[in-house]
Amino acid sequence: MSNDTPNKILRDVFGYPKFRGNQENVIEHVTNGGDALVLMPTGGGKSLCYQIPALCRNGLGIIISPLIALMQDQVDALKQLGVSAAFMNSSLDAEAAREVSRQLQRGELKLLYVAPERLMTESFLNLLERLQQDNGIALFAIDEAHCVSQWGHDFRPEYRALTVLHERFPNVPRIALTATADAPTRREIVERLALEHAQQFISSFDRPNIRYRVTQKNNARQQLLSFLETEHQNDAGIVYCLSRKKVEETASWLKEQGWDALPYHAGLDAAMRSEYQRRFIREEGVIMVATVAFGMGIDKPNVRFVAHLDLPKSLESYYQETGRAGRDGLSANAWMTYGLGDVVSMRQMLMSGEAPEERKRVELQKLDALLGYCETTECRHQTVLRYFGEEHPGDCGQCDNCLEPVDTWDATQAAQMALSCVYRTGQRFGVGHLIDVLLGKATAKIEQFNHQQLSTFGIGKELAQQQWSSVYRQLVAAGLLTVDMEAYGGLKLDEIARPVLKGQQEVWMRRDAAPVKRTRTERDGKTREPFSGATSDRLWLALKAKRMGLAREQGVPPYVIFHDSTLLEMRESKPGSLTEMARISGVGQGKLTRYGDDFLKVIEENC
Ligand code: ADP
Ligand code: ZN
Repeated sequence: MSNDTPNKILRDVFGYPKFRGNQENVIEHVTNGGDALVLMPTGGGKSLCYQIPALCRNGLGIIISPLIALMQDQVDALKQLGVSAAFMNSSLDAEAAREVSRQLQRGELKLLYVAPERLMTESFLNLLERLQQDNGIALFAIDEAHCVSQWGHDFRPEYRALTVLHERFPNVPRIALTATADAPTRREIVERLALEHAQQFISSFDRPNIRYRVTQKNNARQQLLSFLETEHQNDAGIVYCLSRKKVEETASWLKEQGWDALPYHAGLDAAMRSEYQRRFIREEGVIMVATVAFGMGIDKPNVRFVAHLDLPKSLESYYQETGRAGRDGLSANAWMTYGLGDVVSMRQMLMSGEAPEERKRVELQKLDALLGYCETTECRHQTVLRYFGEEHPGDCGQCDNCLEPVDTWDATQAAQMALSCVYRTGQRFGVGHLIDVLLGKATAKIEQFNHQQLSTFGIGKELAQQQWSSVYRQLVAAGLLTVDMEAYGGLKLDEIARPVLKGQQEVWMRRDAAPVKRTRTERDGKTREPFSGATSDRLWLALKAKRMGLAREQGVPPYVIFHDSTLLEMRESKPGSLTEMARISGVGQGKLTRYGDDFLKVIEENC
């Protein structure tokens, strides 16, 4: 039995100086035997919320998780800290599983990760009962608790059966954790897991270290390339694309350009997928070009960017996908390039799908919210959080709109012209042709339809092609124009366009920035401080090389040895003794003993 306090364990075992957010309250509550429901965003630090109480209390802590692929890494990370841990799931062969059972019976383990289907077997529950009589069970942690929800896409029927824990072990505290924020899911967790009496700990879902940016699409590949070149020369990141084909093409194109890029989508065979995922996690600086099939259960802490070459389905998806960046709390980028074509094809895709009308309507509304986000001139952190029902004061200093405030312009007249051009041409043409009419071009199509006779022919010469394209994009995004499925994606007027056409309503639009290659702004320099310059300096590279060497020797991911933030702190403060080394965040006693001397030597040699 450990009589250590949570604070002492935080410092000695994990090497962290203080708790974050709700951690301390949760830990105290659970350590004292209370049930808890913890809602915390990705990267918020959920693991400590059950690991520390388990270490403070008598007996074994059991963590139920559906993410089998992660268990090995989590156990490796705990072993590095000197905590005896193991996992039990279908990936273990019979002998390995027996060995874990033996360790359990001898009371040698402090933490056990287990898949729900394994936990629910009668033999395992019996084993738990025996354990409880011998050494006790410290707690049950139910990770990814939203898996009980039928409405989410991670639904796991076995999660519903977990109430048996409460029935058979009424005195063992339970802590359910999730990063899914919405109220219906939360209610379902409480109900399905019988957590009515559990205290709820709800954190802010803001991810202040993630910088949100949306740029207007203008040769997406080149934009991606210049984004990578200026900001992410050696970083790991994810590039999301909509289709498998685009994933393949983008990955091989990046490879040709000299980047360490891999493709990932559901069409690749399982062995290849897991090999690529392994490389992404175990190596440094790998770029994963992927469909949304990639990401669930990736807890690599130093994903430095998530780039979207296509629109996500909704603001929920966007938040979740971008949320895979910067789990370690260091600055990270969520970058997206988007254009009129994306809006049109996304609308088309949703409307032409097989889904029932009701479902389509909901999906279109979600898309509209996402488009609203893309076009907003307000703080993006504020916009995202408002969507999830949370307040944010704005002016975050971590989104494009706050860093370089967007100009808006009175586009009332332009909108009228654009809409009336749609009307006069019969509501069946695409944007290219509409703009040709406005600009008064003599194209074959215009001749064919006699559109040079229209009152809108040539009335739009004051704006350039690109500006018209921006006007149409914003009209479609705002829902004034809809995509006509019967007319091959031609644009139609929506009811809500009427007051604009009649001159009864003003329209303000964002002025798209000219497509220039940007270097960092001053503010940028400040928030990215840890990385600017770090990537090339000798000590930094030597520290990373040491970490990689140790990780390879032991067959674990590098971040299991030390996180980037810990290496950065070593690089900054250059400890000269073990005592100084112990002060660095992330260096607990176990790691100090294991690696302290190795890293002191690297620092000495490279200063
Ligand atoms: P989540 O499961 O909520 O996504 P994790 O538990 O993986 O988050 O924690 C995210 C990262 O933050 C991890 O790298 C973890 O080591 C680190 N971390 C958690 N709590 C603290 C703390 N109090 N001080 C410093 N780092 C922390
Ligand atoms: Zn902002």
